Amino acid sequence: MLELTRLQELLNEPRQIVITTHHKPDGDAMGSSLGLYNYLIQKGHQVRVITPTDYPTFLQWLPNNPEVIIYTEKPSESEKLVHAADIIFCLDFNALSRINELGNFVRESSAVKVMIDHHLEPEGFDDFRHWSINACATAQLIYDFIVNLMNDKELINKDVATCLYTGIMTDSGSFRFPNTTAEVHHIVADLIACGAENSKIHQMVYDNFSESRLRFLGHCLLNKLEVFAEFNFAMITVSKEDLEKFQITTGDTEGVVNYALSINGIKLAALIVERKDRVKLSLRSTGEFPANEICKKFFNGGGHRNAAGGFSDENLADTIVKLKSVLPEYKTLLVQ
Ligand code: 5GP
Ligand code: MN
Repeated sequence: MLELTRLQELLNEPRQIVITTHHKPDGDAMGSSLGLYNYLIQKGHQVRVITPTDYPTFLQWLPNNPEVIIYTEKPSESEKLVHAADIIFCLDFNALSRINELGNFVRESSAVKVMIDHHLEPEGFDDFRHWSINACATAQLIYDFIVNLMNDKELINKDVATCLYTGIMTDSGSFRFPNTTAEVHHIVADLIACGAENSKIHQMVYDNFSESRLRFLGHCLLNKLEVFAEFNFAMITVSKEDLEKFQITTGDTEGVVNYALSINGIKLAALIVERKDRVKLSLRSTGEFPANEICKKFFNGGGHRNAAGGFSDENLADTIVKLKSVLPEYKTLLVQ
């Protein structure tokens, strides 16, 4: 592991830096990446953000978004940049499988790898880590990194603040999940003081959907939601046909699972989506129920206790059967 003082020294000279984040980036992934980008460019570094895949339009307004390179659109340029980097920042993930093929290039690279993340069980590919599962968002850890590890509080400008606010807002469920501590609110207050326009950011992220996405949500709630009161479990399943009919694009299914969890008494909610390549699961839970355990044990995934995901190589119907079949094992936890 690299000493903090060595990293500070490295960052005090202009470097070639790559920032990357997990595939299908969410608000925290993009907020953290562009937040760090907007900080590092002020220090004179050559910085590129490379995402493994594309990401929702409601995140494409973030300051300096046009500088982001999407690996699937520019694979050879991405590979070259990773190869030429002195430092690679890996944000909001801790296992290289989360960045698809990019993971191989990062693994092979001789660059210093810095992981900043808040997920359980880091794989250990990094040379330096700023990691805490108590952080509500990676963006919170980026703030901490800039202010307390790099002593660069004065470089939290409006662009940095806007990105970090977006990351914290989206990953904390708009400041309502249990890990939204007083400290988080202090950080958020400071980000607003540094120029983040909170009301505008909420609008850009949450009031930026297409008409068909809203109708898709209506379809999910009316026709696709099933409640299993016996297990305090609710599930929404989305087929390939649904995705086509409502012209669903990246990000349009985000947040849908939370509606299932909002039903009185429901402790576990699932969204199962039949994507082109495989069936994707998103699980959300309340309290102590370990949604990540189900994803890890049965669906090749993981995540946080209350928000986890995974995938299945079986078809949609078989995946549903499999998920339902594991519920009895968890019945005591679900009904207590
Ligand atoms: P979502 O349901 O929004 O896709 O993901 C919720 C959380 O679950 C993510 O923040 C991430 O921590 C975790 N997650 C989602 N998909 C996967 C996966 O395939 N593997 C792992 N390890 N974690 C996942
Ligand atoms: Mn996150």
